[in-house]
Amino acid sequence: MFIGHLEPPSPGENKEPENGINVRLFQRGQVDVWGLPLKKFDGASSLKPVYEPPQFTGSEPAAEIEGAKLYTGSCHCGAVTLALKSKSLDKDFTERIAECDCSNCIKAGYVWIYSKKTQVVIDGKENLGRYIFGNKFTEKTFCKICGVPIHTEILDFTEEELAVKSKEERDWIVSVQSFSPVNLRIINGLDVNDLKASQFHGYSTLQPSYLEP
Ligand SMILES: [Zn+2]
Ligand SMILES: [Zn+2]
Repeated sequence: MFIGHLEPPSPGENKEPENGINVRLFQRGQVDVWGLPLKKFDGASSLKPVYEPPQFTGSEPAAEIEGAKLYTGSCHCGAVTLALKSKSLDKDFTERIAECDCSNCIKAGYVWIYSKKTQVVIDGKENLGRYIFGNKFTEKTFCKICGVPIHTEILDFTEEELAVKSKEERDWIVSVQSFSPVNLRIINGLDVNDLKASQFHGYSTLQPSYLEP
């Protein structure tokens, strides 16, 4: 929830503050977030004090990618910082970038890049909260202090644990083992609106289906 003024009152004006509610929290079927006529508010350049993005000071990701760029980002408070080595993130980026409407992603507003583990270094991992749900094959992470969603960690399974899963589940777990998907909204200086993100309909395709609280 937000309470404040989108347009600040003029000097001397007595203006009631506005209440804002995050429409991503409403139950499925009540609000179609992707279908809403959203207006964009440029808070980055209009809100004071000006925000200084926390800097990543860790080591460079090991991945070797021709013509790669080093992107850095963080949660809001700076307890978690991240580096992502990737081909240039712009409209010509040909690998998959996606928003997902599954029960969890739609609430957090992620814009996913499906990066490999070797492309990503996270500093401040001890400050990551972890949330496991659904099929319990992955966990979504977020900063424990400021709550900003960071990435998806693919969980490790032993041979014995894999052996008791269905073949379909096992194949999926093995196929994603090398990935470390990152929320592109945390990257400094990157406007996710400049990217060609596809829309993945996770709500209707991911199992088990979600029971709305
Ligand atoms: Zn934080
Ligand atoms: Zn999702």
